[in-house]
Amino acid sequence: MTTLVIHGGAGNITPAMMTKEDEQAYDLGLKMALDAGYEILHSGGAAMDAVVAAITELENNPLFNAGRGSVFTKKGLHEMDAALMNGKDLSAGAVAGVRNIKNPIQLAKEVMLHSGHVFLSGNGAADFALSRGLEFATDDYFFNKLRYDQWVKIRDSDFTQLDHEGDNLKGMAPNPDYKFGTVGAVACDAEGNLAAGTSTGGMTNKRFGRIGDSPVVGAGTYANNATCAISCTGHGEYFLRAVVAHDISCLMEYKGLSLQEACNVVVKDKLVKMGGEGGLIAVDATGNYDFCFNSAGMYRAMRNSKGEEVIAYYGV
Ligand code: ASP
Repeated sequence: MTTLVIHGGAGNITPAMMTKEDEQAYDLGLKMALDAGYEILHSGGAAMDAVVAAITELENNPLFNAGRGSVFTKKGLHEMDAALMNGKDLSAGAVAGVRNIKNPIQLAKEVMLHSGHVFLSGNGAADFALSRGLEFATDDYFFNKLRYDQWVKIRDSDFTQLDHEGDNLKGMAPNPDYKFGTVGAVACDAEGNLAAGTSTGGMTNKRFGRIGDSPVVGAGTYANNATCAISCTGHGEYFLRAVVAHDISCLMEYKGLSLQEACNVVVKDKLVKMGGEGGLIAVDATGNYDFCFNSAGMYRAMRNSKGEEVIAYYGV
């Protein structure tokens, strides 16, 4: 069975915070990403290519905190992180702190396939992008009034902020806008190959080259045909320390848990005990999928070869 699952961030997402117009805009954004990715799976393409196509679509949509819609750093810049992993051979590519790259997920794929390395950062990653002919974009392309206003409110403080998060988290500023997020995709193709990808602008007002969980293989992103493919979203510091994505894979591999059982243990028990808010999307090699979050909501969607389709935001 082929399955594509995507997310656009987890956090304090409730009906009270979304207008009908907001819902329509998210419906459309998620649907376009499903279309782009699922088309590849439907025509017999690879899970990894479906993941890149879906995330590229989300990165191009300013609604989401990735690519074009990335949040502002303390210095008023956009520093993006992304990772891609292929469950077939455990190959992976990731970038952190990259600027002016139009589609960081495509750079992550280039790193995987052509760099001889797994993880590149900052200026070096930009040099590599140039050498591979990746598309660059000017700062104007990444400018977004809403994100700018979010940043202006806290830029003189030491707070950082998840752009879709509430006001109850340590070290973070109150945020009335709560409505955007990191993006990710996981897929199972017709051959039972799995892939996972995640892309983000990180946290508003981040500094000192802060990197979250998203581009870290095993924390925010992981894929292994023997177990699952996972893409996370949430308060990255906790997801890093809990090694969330790989932990779920290990619970399946070494303890024989099902996909859903493993996700629940890590997201609804381990992370909650640590104080880590967020969620993830997951798929296994039979095409079985899960959305799992401990926050109020998560922008999420799924399409599979049974003809099922889900687009949802709120908790159940
Ligand atoms: N996990 C991301 C980070 O900490 C943020 C997010 O999911 O929105 O950078």
